[in-house]
Order: sequence, then structure tokens, then C-alpha cells
Amino acid sequence: SDHLLEYPISPGHMDWHKLYPALIPTKPGTATEIVKKVEIVDVGCGFGGLLVSLATEFPDKLILGMEIRVQVTHYVEDRIIALRQQHAIQGTYNNIAVLRANAMKFLPNFFEKGQLSKMFFCFPDPHFKLRKHKARIVTSTLTSEYAFLLRPGGIVYTITDVLDLHQWMVKHLEAHALFKRLSKEWEDEDPCVKIMRKDTEEGKKVERNKGDKWVACFVRLDDPE
Ligand code: SAM
Repeated sequence: SDHLLEYPISPGHMDWHKLYPALIPTKPGTATEIVKKVEIVDVGCGFGGLLVSLATEFPDKLILGMEIRVQVTHYVEDRIIALRQQHAIQGTYNNIAVLRANAMKFLPNFFEKGQLSKMFFCFPDPHFKLRKHKARIVTSTLTSEYAFLLRPGGIVYTITDVLDLHQWMVKHLEAHALFKRLSKEWEDEDPCVKIMRKDTEEGKKVERNKGDKWVACFVRLDDPE
């Protein structure tokens, strides 16, 4: 449970060098020298398929997967280490990392206001039962937190094979004054929508079972005057 999860008391207390050793140097005396900050977050990253594809799509951005399951986190860590070794000459995959965390509880401990440009919610757990709806990763409270962490112009990406969850996420994000849903045309042009449909492990599973995939993307609007 959460008392076993490690999290910093503030974003400035986080040791980012540990996660991105090739890109974030250590500084004598303090934790890390922040030359670059995480900008893209995959919430509930599972086995890391999205991260791996985003690594080369956005080679100059730091990308972080957050995952609550210990074994799954270890699997993704090993996967990233192997990729870094295989591509040592090109120096790719140094920009992705995974962190074991409960993304419903501690995001503001890791990121500052306006730090993020993209947040992904790919095939989140549906929590079908009515009394479990509050455990869903998109709620009124959490949408405010996501608006806080995203910069104006930043994007929330959602995809699910569960229509009820899709409608739930759309309802909560559309109800928020700082989010506006993007058009189908926008989705068709965006490279990340393609990646999230075909490179996530869940997306592949749904494809094999010939299931539907529901996508909704939202832009974080400017703060009101
Ligand atoms: N996004 C991946 C994909 O599309 O293949 C995995 C989808 S899987 C159905 C949902 C994942 O979210 C699981 O790996 C689960 O452990 C993780 N998860 C659930 N609640 C979480 C939370 N509060 N914080 C971080 N990860 C969470």
C-alpha cells in the first residue's frame, strides 16, 4: 500500500539523476542539477509500449511512465535498461524512465505547476461497479490537478475500450473550465493518437479481440485573466 511508496516532499527533492542518468547530471552536495524536466507523463504505463514509442518520437523530451504495480515497474525498468544498452551508440532511450507511484495521490510531489505538456491515460482500469467509480483516474478533483500540472496548450490524451469509461472521462474533462475537447480531425493528424492506439499493450490486445477503442483528447486552456 501507499506507505511503502517513496515520493519526494516536493518536486525539487526528487532525485531525477537516478531515472535519467545520461541526461541529468548529479551536482556535488545537492540531489541533481536540473538541466531538463520531465514534460510527458504516461499515467498507469503498464508494460511500457507507449513509452518506448514516444522515446524516439520526442527524442529531446524527458518522458516518465508511472505505474503502481511493483513487478510491472521492474519489468519496464529492465526493458528500458536493455534498450539503452542496445542503442548505446545512438544514445536513444535515455529520455524515458519508469517510476513506481500512485498517480492518484502524489503527482504534485513530482511535478510543478505547468511543467507538463502531455499526459496520457491509456486503457485505465475501468472500475465498473458504481461504488468504485471514485477510484477512476479521471474525477472532478483529479481533473483540477491535471489542469494545474499541464501548461496552457498542454494535452490530455485518453483511450479506452470501455464505452462507459470513455463517456465518464469525457464528461468530467468537458465539465472542467480549463479543458476543451479536440476534434476528430485533430486526433487524425496527431502522431501520439496513432501511437496510443497501436503501441500500447492494451491497444494491441483490443486489436486482437477486434474490440472498439474510444479516444478523447483535451487541450489545457489559458488561465482566465
Ligand atoms: N497503459 C497501459 C496500456 O495501455 O497497455 C496499461 C493499461 S492497464 C489496463 C492499467 C494500468 O494502470 C495497470 O498497469 C495498473 O497497475 C496501473 N494503475 C492503476 N492505478 C494506478 C495508479 N493509481 N497509479 C499508477 N498506476 C496505476
